[in-house]
Amino acid sequence: MAGMLLINLAYALAAVLFIFGLKMLSSPATARRGNLVSGVGMLIAVVATLFHAQVITWQEIAIGGVAGTVVGVYAARRVAMTGMPEMVALFNGFGGLASLLVGWAALFAPTDTFTLTTIALSILIGGVTFTGSVVAWAKLSEIISGKPTLFAGQRVVNALLLAAIVVTSVLFCLHPQSTAWLILLIVLSFLLGVMAVIPIGGADMPVVISLLNSYSGLAACAAGFAISNMILIVAGALVGASGIILTQIMCKAMNRSLANVLFSGFGAVTAGGEKIEGETRPITHEDAYYILEAASSVVIVPGYGMAVAQAQHAVKELQQLLEKNGAEVVYAIHPVAGRMPGHMNVLLAEADVSYDLLLEMDEINPRLENFDVAIVIGANDVVNPAARESKTSPIYGMPIIDVDKARTVFVLKRSMASGFAGIDNPLFFKPNTRMLFGDAKESITQLIRQFK
Ligand code: NDP
Repeated sequence: MAGMLLINLAYALAAVLFIFGLKMLSSPATARRGNLVSGVGMLIAVVATLFHAQVITWQEIAIGGVAGTVVGVYAARRVAMTGMPEMVALFNGFGGLASLLVGWAALFAPTDTFTLTTIALSILIGGVTFTGSVVAWAKLSEIISGKPTLFAGQRVVNALLLAAIVVTSVLFCLHPQSTAWLILLIVLSFLLGVMAVIPIGGADMPVVISLLNSYSGLAACAAGFAISNMILIVAGALVGASGIILTQIMCKAMNRSLANVLFSGFGAVTAGGEKIEGETRPITHEDAYYILEAASSVVIVPGYGMAVAQAQHAVKELQQLLEKNGAEVVYAIHPVAGRMPGHMNVLLAEADVSYDLLLEMDEINPRLENFDVAIVIGANDVVNPAARESKTSPIYGMPIIDVDKARTVFVLKRSMASGFAGIDNPLFFKPNTRMLFGDAKESITQLIRQFK
């Protein structure tokens, strides 16, 4: 009795640490500590669970713990920054699978209708999360094509699948001792996960992963009810809520609804938009240097290309040289720049760029016309003025960083190729824009050389 009280107190402490950890994750300055605080919370929760009287076998728990730690540490150390979304996808997927297994295991104890319902839910949501995440991972790692897979009658097939799942769930709850319904429910939920993610384009996967993250939380929450474990319910609810909030933030930053991301097959057809007439004005590194040398304020706008080129350290060095030369330098960060939320913040943090120099879109936009130079480093869609000016553009209405308002704009990219949205960018043709073609890291290194 006293033991159970202590365990519950430990769980409450863990829940408090999760909440404070989450809060700290919302600012780059405290994010690392937030991660640690949540990690300590998880350690307390795991240790408290091990003191539970219901623990049947220590040996298997130890084997699982060691195996999980080895794989987790190895994977986290090996993963490149650009591969982080794939890794998160796999983590979510295995979280879903774990909840499915917990739900299944709960069947071995006496069950009532409520418990059976939560078991069915943890199996269903866990199964969808598992295969959905594996498909998202495969699309992002280009193991399968990132193009949306669409076929005639897809919606009918999905509706039939959903109906079959509802019927099977009811039959499973009515006949929990029959393995057939259990297996059928698992198979159908696996199938639903695949069917839900294949029609979504590879570039929308970060939104899907955030949504699947939310699902993995809901699955854990259902599993928590199935085995009456308070901390699993709390942690699952926190993951479920934060995942859905992040999904919403990402959709808003792209000016798209969640339904549009999930069902429109974005990227299946070549995007529309107006054809742009005009000429671009390329610039040499030397001429770019002369302009930068004379600038007293510079805003750096990073995008996906900075991640591809791994240019963040060179960017930091250029920032320091500009500052030494007397210029004010800030960074403008768009919420969906790159391919995952916070992508640019993480890269710049890796290069030790001070957090107070990172300005969000709403902060920088009213000030942009006062800047001498805006350096766009591998960003494209997030600085595309068509979102403001062209009603026929597929990204019309998406909030962007108004770099074209700066006195001079340098665009660092390798070619005239489009970005994720697959549309032309009128910025490249504006009279105040100069194109600095080449790999972003290479171009910045050249500029640094000129300064030195
Ligand atoms: P974009 O995808 O629009 O453009 C990236 C640009 O980088 C390309 O035009 C490419 O041009 C250039 N590039 C690639 N490699 C290099 C390199 N080595 N050196 C220099 N340039 C390079 O990126 P943005 O960051 O502007 O926009 C992100 C897009 O992703 C948005 O449309 C957003 O909606 C979408 N998205 C973002 C998510 C997120 O969470 N951040 C989630 C889902 C979607 P070139 O090939 O000519 O070099």
